[in-house]
Order: sequence, then C-alpha cells, then structure tokens
Amino acid sequence: MALELVTIPCLTDNYAYLIRDKATGETALVDVPEAAPILAELALRGWRLDKIFLTHHHNDHVQGTDELVQATGAAVYGAQADVHRLPPLTRALTEGDEVTVGETIGHVMDVSGHTIGDIAFVFPSAQMAFTADSLMAGACGRLFEGSPAMMWASLSKIAALPTQTIICSGHEYTASNLRFAATIEPANADLLDRIARVAAARAAGLPTVPSLLSEELATNPFLRVKLPHIKKALGLPTASDAEVFAAMRARKDTF
Ligand code: ZN
Ligand code: FE
Repeated sequence: MALELVTIPCLTDNYAYLIRDKATGETALVDVPEAAPILAELALRGWRLDKIFLTHHHNDHVQGTDELVQATGAAVYGAQADVHRLPPLTRALTEGDEVTVGETIGHVMDVSGHTIGDIAFVFPSAQMAFTADSLMAGACGRLFEGSPAMMWASLSKIAALPTQTIICSGHEYTASNLRFAATIEPANADLLDRIARVAAARAAGLPTVPSLLSEELATNPFLRVKLPHIKKALGLPTASDAEVFAAMRARKDTF
C-alpha cells in the first residue's frame, strides 16, 4: 500500500484522515473538523503536514484549517466551486484534477449532492477514496443543496470504483445508518452481520470507518436501489433507480 492511513476522531462524531506517502514521507490531511487532535497526532508520530484536502465547506469539515495552516504551513486544496465559502485555498480543484501525496497520485471527483461543489479524493494505487459526507458508512449524506438525481449520479461514480476500495467517510453515524438499512432489508445477512460488528466496535470505543466499498455494496441500501426487493420495499417496484434513491433518501430524513 502506497499510503499509510490514520483515522482521527474529532469533535463529537467527525473524522479526519492523515495519509502519508511511504516512499517520500509527504503527508496530507483530509478535512479539518478541529486542529488540536490533528496536531497531537502529527506530534506523536513526528510527521510534518504538507497538504490539506477539503471535501466541502461545512464548518465541521473546515473550521480547524486556519489554525492548522498557521501551525504547519500546509498548502490547502479545495473545490473551485466553493472558493467563496472555503478557507483560503493554495489551489482550487475541479473534477478530474490530479493531486499528489509524495509519489502517490489522487484524482478529484465531483460528488455534489450533500452540497453543490462537494468533492471526493480518490487514490487508485492506494485503493482509497475520501468521500466525507457523500458516500458514508451505511448510508449517504443528507441532501442540503443538491437534488436526489445529482447525489445518485455522484454515488454511482463512487460505486463504480474497484470493490476493494477503502471508503474514508466523515462521520460516526454507522450504527444509526444501519438501523435504517435494516428497515429496508431486514433479511440481508451481510447487513445483520455488519450491524453486529459495528455494535462490537462501538462498544470497544473503535471507529467504524473506514469501510470497504464491497461492504457498502452489500449492505448500504443507497447503493442497492436497483435490486427488485428494495424497490418493492419502498413501494416503487417499477420506478427507476434514481427515483427509488430519492424515495429512500426522503424516508431516511424522517427516520
Ligand atoms: Zn457536511
Ligand atoms: Fe459533516
């Protein structure tokens, strides 16, 4: 694996991720819910922070950026579409742009839906995707700005990555997400198994992220809307995948 990955719990239920290129030692951070735990982790490991990648403008993903930049001098990368509402950027990104962590190359993917301008960072050689509040463990982010069709298109791009991709998402919402999933698919054995594993992890105080894309494809109902039994569960047996996705997202909003 070309990148070393460190999951850092922040605030009450957020996650930031440090990624370090093993060949060069260059280190980047994905999202900055707060600076203190990240600075502590860097100090513990003796790592210097070179780059900050921001997924979207919500405060709980960016509010530690200025403090971290002052402490480390790291360069800040975020979406061109959001320059007006992100901390000052060193470089503005659009879909398909390349970013690097040392010798490891990543690609920017537009995953609008939770917000418009939301981006994911995909590192194929490391088999990692940083999806924050787009594809989440067991669900997807709420649609604050985009339409269901937009989010469905974004999730479909993530779902098409290699199934062994490590999905690094932004929150510890997994247990609640899977409780919702079980209302849609009460007989999904993979889901019931995941619910048990997530409960055990939480009882041990461990994060339930990152997750594997293969696991999301097997248990996350938002990636499973094409299945006939799921369409039926939502009362939409003949609807399109995007329509079923929209109905499922609406149902979860009131779950
Ligand atoms: Zn958000
Ligand atoms: Fe968030």
